[in-house]
Amino acid sequence: GFITLEGGEGSGKSTQARRLVERIRAAGHEALGTREPGGSPRAERIRDALLSGVVAPLGPVAEAMMFAAARIDHLDATIRPALARGSFVVCDRFVDSTRVYQGAVDGVDAGLLAGLERLVVGETMPDLTVLLDLDVATGLARARARRGAAAPDRFEREAETYHEGLRRAFLDNAGREPGRCLVVDAGRSLDDVAETLWLIVGRRFPA
Ligand code: C5P
Repeated sequence: GFITLEGGEGSGKSTQARRLVERIRAAGHEALGTREPGGSPRAERIRDALLSGVVAPLGPVAEAMMFAAARIDHLDATIRPALARGSFVVCDRFVDSTRVYQGAVDGVDAGLLAGLERLVVGETMPDLTVLLDLDVATGLARARARRGAAAPDRFEREAETYHEGLRRAFLDNAGREPGRCLVVDAGRSLDDVAETLWLIVGRRFPA
């Protein structure tokens, strides 16, 4: 089973991904936790280049291609070998983040992104994608709480309309593939969200 978690900043994706992996293992199955951008040694180096901003001057299309290159290696080195040996794979962000960040936010043509997605991902689409949906005020409050006295990061400094747009784009995208994508309210406690995720996974992958 290939499971991906999606959502904006502060939605709790990374925590939930970690807890889901632990829970699948506790139930007696093999599970691998991974993330994008990154997830393999080479793709993590591309991640560093992308997030540090050194690639940004090349423009959104070139950036999208760097994300695609990282994904090719991540799939070949990490995801496909794990799925082939029967392991579950839980990935923090995947194709839906590309559609939202490179597509809806950065304005890269949807047809171009769809072509790249087919080329890079092929048959290895997630069996299940959970969008952790969170209202913008709660997300920003969580980000503030997490940072404490440190300076606000790039995302906290973005206007509220940016975060609203991001949320809308994730929801619209999930709505277009209701068979694969489920939306979970991430405004509840970490335990509640984890419990809901576990129920969803149990239903999608009956033992
Ligand atoms: O989930 P995480 O915080 O590790 O993601 C790092 C950042 O990379 C995200 O905040 C997002 O802005 C960016 N990103 C992106 N395009 C993607 C995936 C992530 O711009 N396809």
